[in-house]
Amino acid sequence: MKIAVIGAGYVGLVTGACFADFGHEVRCIDTDPRKIESLRSGGVPIYEPGLAELIASNVAADRLKFDMDLGWGVRDADAVFIAVGTPSRRGDGHADLTYVYQVAKDIAAELQGYTVVVTKSTVPVGTGDEVERLIRETRPDADFTVASNPEFLREGAAIGDFKRPDRIVIGTTDPRAREVMSEVYRPLFLNQAPILFTDRRTSELTKYAANAFLATKITFINEIADLCEEAGANVQDVARGMGLDNRIGSKFLHAGPGFGGSCFPKDVSALIKTGQDYGAPGRIIEAVANVNDQRKRAMGRKIIQAAGGDIRGKTVALLGLTFKPNTDDMRDAPSIAITRALKDAGANIRAFDPVGMEQARKVIEDGVVFCKDPYETVAGADVVTVVTEWDVFRALDLTKVRGLMKSPILVDLRNVYNPTDVIKAGFTYTGVGRGQVK
Ligand code: NAD
Repeated sequence: MKIAVIGAGYVGLVTGACFADFGHEVRCIDTDPRKIESLRSGGVPIYEPGLAELIASNVAADRLKFDMDLGWGVRDADAVFIAVGTPSRRGDGHADLTYVYQVAKDIAAELQGYTVVVTKSTVPVGTGDEVERLIRETRPDADFTVASNPEFLREGAAIGDFKRPDRIVIGTTDPRAREVMSEVYRPLFLNQAPILFTDRRTSELTKYAANAFLATKITFINEIADLCEEAGANVQDVARGMGLDNRIGSKFLHAGPGFGGSCFPKDVSALIKTGQDYGAPGRIIEAVANVNDQRKRAMGRKIIQAAGGDIRGKTVALLGLTFKPNTDDMRDAPSIAITRALKDAGANIRAFDPVGMEQARKVIEDGVVFCKDPYETVAGADVVTVVTEWDVFRALDLTKVRGLMKSPILVDLRNVYNPTDVIKAGFTYTGVGRGQVK
């Protein structure tokens, strides 16, 4: 199959590289000249484990190419995947579809022969109809089908998720398009990946429903964690006790500083808006969004509390800045709101992230001292906080840390430490939802 992928970001690059690895001929297009230059000269503009090697081997095999010229990618393609961003629209929280619609218009001018145009970007229900209308308006003669094929990969584990997905959802009722999409994903039939064929609108909504449900699960356990703290219970055991029930499942039951990242916050917000527009408001997800927004800043207050209630002039060491480990993605990371809350209260901040420093510098306020490793970060600090559970923070030399700090206070927003060990090492310990630790 000849495939064009429009948008060479986290999803587009992983999609393009994996399709090429399946044996397809893939052309990735992006409007960002720096990204394309970097890719053409052997670089990879994002951090995703295994991606650089996968791109390199498929470029070497001549199956994966990069360009800014959309026509070059689209003209010969059997399928064109739209993988551009759909961020929150400033002001109202709807999904901003500007990039998707621009690509639809650009594709229209270039279509030749039968082509399946696939929205891989996360787009609100009904977007495929508009993409189809825009293409038809520009090119009444074109032979094409617009299908939906939302992406469920997780950053940090994206290649494994793409190659061994829990399911593939394909939204089109057109038999020709189903045939093309089956061919595109045929290598995964061997892995027995379940393929769910449905209509376009159902497929579009499935993606939002899945993300909103996961966000709800996280928010639910976070509220239970708050109750555990007040009631003297342990949220990790509560989560384990819940998660062993197959009807519930253990994933996404880790209490922490609130969900962030490039998807959950914006997708929850967009689903809320869609629900309101259709007169079917999602009251549960509205509550989820509110609770989660307040939680991130509340984590700042938790750190201040742990430091004795007044942080002015004191120094906080933050370990981990990205929204989760194994990515450099800083979009809507809890560290942003935490940093802001601490600065508002007059704290000095030192910070370190194994991979996300470059992105962090762009979004975290001035005045933060960025350090080169965890130990440099804690030097002279009054309190150290694990914000993101990167592996390097899971087994710090606590004796060394205590020796470097001004006062031994550890706040563990990811519950990665055994409180007893930390207390034994001479620290005061504050976790999330571990109410029994005194
Ligand atoms: P991203 O911001 O990393 O990448 C988007 C890319 O599109 C950028 O490189 C940008 O330059 C490019 N672009 C914008 N306009 C273009 C145009 N007209 N022509 C060509 N390229 C253009 O975004 P992402 O994280 O890859 O997300 C893409 C979509 O996938 C979003 O809808 C997102 O919700 C969805 N998604 C993301 C993830 C994830 O983990 N990141 C997972 C599942 C789904």
